[in-house]
Amino acid sequence: MNILTTIQERNPGEPEFLQAVHEVAEYIIPFIEQNPRYKAFKVFERMAEPERVIIFRVPWVDDKGEIRINRGYRVQMSSVIGPYKGGLRFHPSVTLSVLKFLAFEQTYKNSLTGLPMGGGKGGSDFDPKGKSDAEVMRFCQSFMTELYRHIGPDLDVPAGDIGVGKREIGYLFGQYKRIKNEFTGVLTGKGFEWGGSRIRPEATGYGLIYFVQEIFKTIGETLEGKVITISGSGNVAQFAAEKSIQCGAKVVTMSDSDGYIYDQTGITAEKLAFITELKEVKRGRISEYVDRYPGARFFPGEKPWGIPCDIALPCATQNELDGHDARLLIDNGCRYVAEGANMPCTTEAVALFNKERIYYVPGKAANAGGVAVSGLEMTQNSLRYAWFKEKVDDRLRIIIKGIHATCVQYGREEDGHINYEKGANIGGFVKVADAMIDQGVV
Ligand code: NDP
Repeated sequence: MNILTTIQERNPGEPEFLQAVHEVAEYIIPFIEQNPRYKAFKVFERMAEPERVIIFRVPWVDDKGEIRINRGYRVQMSSVIGPYKGGLRFHPSVTLSVLKFLAFEQTYKNSLTGLPMGGGKGGSDFDPKGKSDAEVMRFCQSFMTELYRHIGPDLDVPAGDIGVGKREIGYLFGQYKRIKNEFTGVLTGKGFEWGGSRIRPEATGYGLIYFVQEIFKTIGETLEGKVITISGSGNVAQFAAEKSIQCGAKVVTMSDSDGYIYDQTGITAEKLAFITELKEVKRGRISEYVDRYPGARFFPGEKPWGIPCDIALPCATQNELDGHDARLLIDNGCRYVAEGANMPCTTEAVALFNKERIYYVPGKAANAGGVAVSGLEMTQNSLRYAWFKEKVDDRLRIIIKGIHATCVQYGREEDGHINYEKGANIGGFVKVADAMIDQGVV
C-alpha cells in the first residue's frame, strides 16, 4: 500500500496532521524514490508515528469556586537527534490533530537549526483569554502536576506557543521546581532573571526578518521602503514588526481574532510600543489601536491579505491564509510570503505561490529562530551561564543563515529558482532520517 494511504488510514479525523504530512510528502516521497535506503528503513512512515502521546485530565477551580476540567496533551514525536523540544499551546482550538501536526513540523524545524533537539508539542484546550492571573496560575499548576513526570532537561523541554507566554511559563516552571525540588532548564522562554536567554522573546520574529534579509541578499534587494502586511499581534507578530521597522520597512497591518487594523502611514516604533502594552499588559484587543490612532482603520472579522504589499508575514495561526487570499496578495503585487506562524497558508495557497514563482518560505524554516534560541537557552542552562544579548543575536543570525543555505542546497530548481518549501522539507528530513538509520529500528 502507498505510504500516504497507510498514514491516512491510521489517523482518521486528524485533518491538520494529515495536511502537514501531505505537504511534506510531496517532496519527500520523490526524494525517497531517488534514495532507496530511506525506503528500505521506512523512515518516513516511522516519522509520521509519534514515539509517545500523553493525554491527561487537568482539573482546576475558577474564581467563583466552580470546578473546571480541561484536557492536557504532550506529543513526543521524535527524540532521534535530541530531547523532545517544542512549545505548549493553550487555545480552545487545541486537539490531538493540531498538536500532532505541530510536533511533526517541529521535528523538521529543529533539525534545520543544526542543534541537537528532537520534536514535540503539547498544550490544552484551555483559553487564558478573559481569565484572571490567579485562574491562569491554578490551571498551569494543575497542568504541570501531571506533565512533570514526562519531561526533564535531558528528556523533553517544552516552551511557549499561542496562549503561553512569559506569565504561563513562570507558573509552569514554579510548579515543576516545587514538585521536583530542583532548579533545572526544563522549560525555555523563562524570564531572564531565572534562567531565560536574552533575545528569546524576540527570536521568532527577528529570525523571520533575518530570513527575509537572506533571500534579499541573493537578489540584491533590501527591506528599506518595503510595505509589509502582518497578521496576529502576539509574540511573533510584535517582534517581526519591530525588526521590520528597524530595517526601514513600512508595516501597515496587524490583527487578532476579532479583525485587523490598517495604518496606511505605517506602524512606527512608538505605535508598536502601544500595541505591546495593549497586548502584554492590558490584555486588550487590537481594535483599540484606532481609538489611539484615529488615522488607522479597523476591519472587524476580516484578514489583512487584501491590502497591497511587497511582503506578507502571516504570524497568527494555522490555515489563516487560503487560496483566495493568496490570489489577492499576488494580484496586488506581493512577491514574498514568509510564515511566522506554523502552517498559516492552506495547501491551495501554497500551490498558487509556487505556481506563480512567489518567494514562499514555510514556517519550519522561516520561524525556526524561536526554537533555535530556545536551544541556546538550554546550552546556557547546562553551562549555568548567561550570554550577552549581542552573542545570542549573532548566533541567531548564523543559524538562520545556515537554514537559508540548506534551503538553497536542497531547493534549487532546474531554472535556478529556489523552492524554499522543497529545500526546507528535504533539508530537515535528511538529518533525522540518517540518524534513524544509524540508531536501528526503534
Ligand atoms: P500569541 O498567543 O502570542 O499570539 C497569537 C496571535 O494570533 C494573537 O494575535 C491571536 O489573536 C492570533 N490568533 C490566534 N488564534 C487565532 C485564530 N484562530 N484566528 C485569528 N487569530 C488568531 O502566539 P505566538 O505569537 O507565540 O504564536 C503565533 C504563531 O507563531 C503560532 O502559529 C505559533 O505556533 C507560531 N510560532 C511561535 C513561536 C514562538 O516562539 N512563540 C515559534 C515558532 C512559531 P487573539 O489574541 O485574538 O487570540
